[in-house]
Amino acid sequence: MFVARRLPEAGLAPLREAGLHVDVHDSEEPITRQELLSRAAGAHALITLMSERVDDALLDAAGPQLKVVANFAVGYDNIDVPACRRRGVVATNTPGVLDDATADMAFALLLAVARRLPEGEALVRSGAWTGWRPEQLLGAHVTGATIGIVGLGRIGRAVARRARGFDMRLLYHNRRPDPAAERELNARYETMDELLSQSDFVSLHVPLTAETRHLIGQRELALMKPTAVLVNTARGPVVDEAALVSALQGGSIAGAGLDVYEDEPAVDPGLLGLQNVVLAPHLGSATRETRTAMARLCSEAVLAVLAGREPANAISG
Ligand code: NAP
Repeated sequence: MFVARRLPEAGLAPLREAGLHVDVHDSEEPITRQELLSRAAGAHALITLMSERVDDALLDAAGPQLKVVANFAVGYDNIDVPACRRRGVVATNTPGVLDDATADMAFALLLAVARRLPEGEALVRSGAWTGWRPEQLLGAHVTGATIGIVGLGRIGRAVARRARGFDMRLLYHNRRPDPAAERELNARYETMDELLSQSDFVSLHVPLTAETRHLIGQRELALMKPTAVLVNTARGPVVDEAALVSALQGGSIAGAGLDVYEDEPAVDPGLLGLQNVVLAPHLGSATRETRTAMARLCSEAVLAVLAGREPANAISG
């Protein structure tokens, strides 16, 4: 089997213990497409990351013996699921184990933007700080504010639980209302436009699909309050990045906390020059525990499929 990147070794241990030959692209850097196509050839199982496009060309290059592609991510916008299905290849992802880490990151960004943490840190480091001032770097009040969660799924609900700890008023939008989640979290279903116009903080947790690409564009940003903050830990293309830069520059929203970008690792130069944004390098699931758990889920899925069992986390969509 072939693993497309160096992953936490403890997560791959079950594969080695099962006696599988595990060929790893043993690097922090993504594998080139050409090398991926040649090293996947003959594999019964692949572990891929979102940097690898799993499409007809890769599946054909791997060959008809391929049984499973385990994606080291919950998002699977890099996978052509119908192409896998046509060949009887099971595709899996890593739901659940990264909810808390990703929700923590969303909240870290929300707090950092609201309380202007990077600006304050830069001031201290510069040596220019001359002491406490009654009106220095005043930020937005988080406790009791309204948060709009777009995509109240696994991660969205974990964000909602954190928001409840801050006594926030909770609005959400999914394609369909979720009465059970509403009861559990005291959340109110809103149309997208209502959520955008009422929220002080908007946090995105939808998967990237044809429907959610540029879900937040110029029109949606214009609906937000001028004091509002947008947080994106979902996928970059859910937001029209150029429209976001214009909205931030023009003051139609107050700030943004971003973990993901439209064309990673490229970041719109307009964002880099803005003080009212906090930029993280796609760290949502980046805790030691979470990344090991993700690798374990991938290993378990591979072992299940190769043993003829149903994996716990097959992608159906
Ligand atoms: P999930 O449990 O499937 O939740 C997704 C939510 O989005 C559901 O509530 C779904 O509800 C809603 N949704 C889907 N399509 C929608 C649409 N067109 N309009 C409005 N709502 C829509 O997924 P999850 O496990 O929470 O993960 C969410 C995403 O987070 C992943 O797909 C991934 O891209 C991203 N992520 C990023 C990081 C990071 O490192 N930054 C880490 C983990 C995950 P309905 O089906 O009812 O619409």
